[in-house]
Amino acid sequence: MMAEPIPVAMGQGSSCWGCFQSLVDMHLRLADVLPLLDIKYWQAVVDYKLEDLENYPDKSIVVGLYEGMARTEEDVHLLKLMRQKCKVLVAFGTCSCYGGIPGLANAWDIEECYDVKFRENKTFSGGKVPTENLPPIEPVVHPNSDYVDFDIYLPGCPPTSDLIVKAITALLEGKELELPTYTVCHYCPREKKETPIPEILRPFRGNADPDRCLLEQGYICLGSATWGLCEGQCVSKGVTCRGCFGPPPPITQDQGAAAMSMLGTYAPLEPEKLKEQVPDPLGCFYRFTYPSSRLGRMRIRREELKEASEE
Ligand code: SF4
Ligand code: SF4
Ligand code: SF4
Repeated sequence: MMAEPIPVAMGQGSSCWGCFQSLVDMHLRLADVLPLLDIKYWQAVVDYKLEDLENYPDKSIVVGLYEGMARTEEDVHLLKLMRQKCKVLVAFGTCSCYGGIPGLANAWDIEECYDVKFRENKTFSGGKVPTENLPPIEPVVHPNSDYVDFDIYLPGCPPTSDLIVKAITALLEGKELELPTYTVCHYCPREKKETPIPEILRPFRGNADPDRCLLEQGYICLGSATWGLCEGQCVSKGVTCRGCFGPPPPITQDQGAAAMSMLGTYAPLEPEKLKEQVPDPLGCFYRFTYPSSRLGRMRIRREELKEASEE
């Protein structure tokens, strides 16, 4: 006899839907999983309304996945509601775990973001910031963990389908999800000779030796500072790791600082030379984790103090 389907909910904050796309990309394996799910809420897929989620009894949903970060007041409301209604809440994907690429917006204040997105982008909204029927925007992106506690962090931009299958299977069977804690370097087949880097190379420069560590050849690879849950899928195909799974456990580590420290060890270059050769350090080292990093925390604090002084 088939087991009773398990109540689940998928909540989407501000995000690109790539993580849920990766879930759908399970392809035929979905056929095994879908009958086990009683989907109670999933904005883009099932026609339930927010009100339905609000009316479910607390903790009546067994597993909830929350994708994206909290850019709007509505995102924050949904995130808190998911916590209230779900027994197990998963931070699903890198935006949800650390703030992700959209969290880089914290490098500018909200008015500058409006300038780029709306006021100077005349084809999009006639040069005006739209407000009608839209939820208010949060002035700064906080990591989701500032609002709620998660039971599981499942990073990746997006998480791989294999990782999702493993996680969902364990959760539906009520088992503890055990994830390896290795970095990407652990899975990388390239040889390391521990030699210094004479020059930092942009990815389009030169032809990389296919067998040598990319970092040692001068290409910035964040493999040593990144949780290897993808099993090194980029570096094994000749592309540097950009760090999309965030830091290895404990995930409160500062991935960008660890990557810069690794670069400092391998590249004995003058700071001025390094600045020239790494034109976008924030995007390079903090592309996926800025809001939850130490640097990003300072920025959030500054915005909060500014807001408080304006009140
Ligand atoms: S983690 Fe990446 S794939 Fe997932 S929602 Fe964020 S940007 Fe999209
Ligand atoms: S730094 Fe990058 S290229 Fe070098 S071993 Fe680690 S993952 Fe491989
Ligand atoms: S190798 Fe790095 S960038 Fe590529 S999927 Fe893995 S963590 Fe992300």
